[in-house]
Amino acid sequence: MRIDVMGVEFDNITIDEAVSQALDLMREQRAAYVVTPNPEIVMAARENASLSDALAGADLVLADGIGVVKGAKILGTPLKEKIPGIDFAARLFSLLSKQNGSVFLFGAKPGVAELAAQNLLKQYPGLVIAGTNNGYFTDDAPILDRINEASPDLLLVCLGFPKQEIWMAEHTGALNVGLMAGLGGSLDVLAGVAERAPEKWQRAGLEWLYRLKKEPRRIGRMMQLPKFLFSVIGRRLGGKQHAG
Ligand code: UDP
Repeated sequence: MRIDVMGVEFDNITIDEAVSQALDLMREQRAAYVVTPNPEIVMAARENASLSDALAGADLVLADGIGVVKGAKILGTPLKEKIPGIDFAARLFSLLSKQNGSVFLFGAKPGVAELAAQNLLKQYPGLVIAGTNNGYFTDDAPILDRINEASPDLLLVCLGFPKQEIWMAEHTGALNVGLMAGLGGSLDVLAGVAERAPEKWQRAGLEWLYRLKKEPRRIGRMMQLPKFLFSVIGRRLGGKQHAG
């Protein structure tokens, strides 16, 4: 069942259910795709039809972060839990490594995906790295060829939004991969280039605040969060002024 949070339909599932559905999709081998929208992406989708269509066309729409979960609760249609994209990916890596499954890492600045690959191999020795490619390109034809040749079980598409969602929507069904997942800055985290919040902060739902502390230049982007909450409250109260 899907739940509408300000125009984006989220799957109302736990991380366990998300992982199990992802494995089923992977077996179907039709390059289905997973998106992990946060409040910033939800707000952007209201003004970007291509992004909105790409989100609507996804096979799995996971609530990445506490903001979306809080929003759904305020709207009176609660979601089961938050599913941080990077936790979802970790669960898939772990399962893939047990069956010598493969992953292709696509995105981030040159060198980052390779670093992420080295770290992943240390943590998940059975995992096969089918290939890597940075996320700064003008022509994607050679990248599509490399991905198809590598034919990975899982393709991480980490180009930031809205690029990654639109890229996956454009290529779903046409790629020789099990499943794709659009995971924003995850390769930076896996590479150790960006740091994730300590667990205490994650549990308190303050991952966003930690990130802001580390990267204060994100303040402009983060102002989307209060805007999102105001819109949610406006909609809940039935007012048009914020819900618009
Ligand atoms: N990125 C990319 N190609 C682009 C633009 C961005 O590969 O054309 C990468 C960027 O290097 C970073 C990721 O996409 O690794 C986006 O990271 P950000 O922290 O903005 O994403 P978030 O997790 O907040 O969505």
